[in-house]
Amino acid sequence: MTVDEAVRLKQEYLFPGVRAYYSKPLVLVDGNGVRVHDSTGREYLDLYGGILTVSVGHAHPHVVEAVKEQVDKISHTSTCYLNEPMLRLAERLAKITPGNLKKTFFSNSGTEANETAVFLAKIYTGNHDVIAVRHSYHGRSTLAAMLTGNSAWRPVDTEIPGIVHAHSPYCFRCAFHLEYPSCGLACAYDIEELIRTCTCGRIAAFIAEPIQGVGGFVTPPPEYFKIAVEIVRRYGGVFICDEVQTGWGRTGGKLFGIEHWGVEPDIMTFAKGLANGSPIGATVARAEIAEAFTAATISTFGGNPVTMAAAMATMDVIVDNNLPAHVAKVGEMCFGRLRSMQDRFPFVGEVRGKGLMMGVEITGENRAPAPDATTALMEAAREEGILIGRGGLYSNAIRIAPPMTISAEDAADGMDRFERALAKVASQF
Ligand code: PMP
Repeated sequence: MTVDEAVRLKQEYLFPGVRAYYSKPLVLVDGNGVRVHDSTGREYLDLYGGILTVSVGHAHPHVVEAVKEQVDKISHTSTCYLNEPMLRLAERLAKITPGNLKKTFFSNSGTEANETAVFLAKIYTGNHDVIAVRHSYHGRSTLAAMLTGNSAWRPVDTEIPGIVHAHSPYCFRCAFHLEYPSCGLACAYDIEELIRTCTCGRIAAFIAEPIQGVGGFVTPPPEYFKIAVEIVRRYGGVFICDEVQTGWGRTGGKLFGIEHWGVEPDIMTFAKGLANGSPIGATVARAEIAEAFTAATISTFGGNPVTMAAAMATMDVIVDNNLPAHVAKVGEMCFGRLRSMQDRFPFVGEVRGKGLMMGVEITGENRAPAPDATTALMEAAREEGILIGRGGLYSNAIRIAPPMTISAEDAADGMDRFERALAKVASQF
């Protein structure tokens, strides 16, 4: 398929809201490890992994083999019947997730995982109000979009009551115009006033990402979650930790993002990187919370044996190779490189993130968001043969998050190319 044909078909047959990157979109045809090829045969170093989803590299042989083996046996059962891969994965999730998280509901996406979590929190607590965070992203269903703290991803009017949004721990653009640490964590303590002024005073849940993904890898100060979650529990709420982007070693050194912040969630949600690209959602909860959900509920594809096999194989690769340690090491090198780029290029406003979740906010005078320069940087990076992502409320945050199996050499090569792209854009702006 030529690019022109692909663009024509997209325009004719897909919803216009499906927006591909680049003035001339890429049609990807194959991938291996951290390399992908487009329809013209050009090779790219994939530093985005299909939005932090290809966690152990394209076509990882262990994952491919597990999927093929399962397809040959049985591809679908529904939860009207049990299947071994689903039960084994649930057992493994209970063992590997922090604290007392134990029981899982499987679905097909992060959106559904979060919907399930909010349902569950309301059923368990008997409360209705939910606290979400500004600059967050939690999915595309009506509820998940209303939880999302970014108008760009909320296509309809606010139509679900009972959700209020706390300030984001976004230090670079602090809503209180304060500086860490002299701010005294005003954003976290403000949650108490939010509950007392904008809810009935009893809440069902606080839902938050350990690092805000779509928000542009906004990374909270170390104390934020301890303060926030203590307040939330005091007002009757449970903590839903959305690990859709931060899970499975992505943040380096730990398997889960929240482990850096010293808090144990009551409910955790997963998707993306858990199955290396097979559609999956998982909501894992403490046993006594999960047990409150006695009403019938079904996801036809939830617990699909092929997806479960892909997830199990992906977890094998992550755990057997101690990828969190590898991510910490390679990430440290990359952050060193990015910080030196920040020193060199004034339009790099902030470098933030953890592990292999690296955000670069592109700014103009007085930290003004610079989305046009960001667009130019995306195109320049593509010309250099690297795929990177973007995000942020102002669409001015570059997101770099390669498969976690990336070698130190490939990561260094990726950084060289990103630096050349920055230099090219610096001469234009
Ligand atoms: N939560 C977070 C943190 C996400 O980044 C996303 C997807 N970008 C979702 C939930 C929704 O996941 P999905 O697109 O699989 O529905």
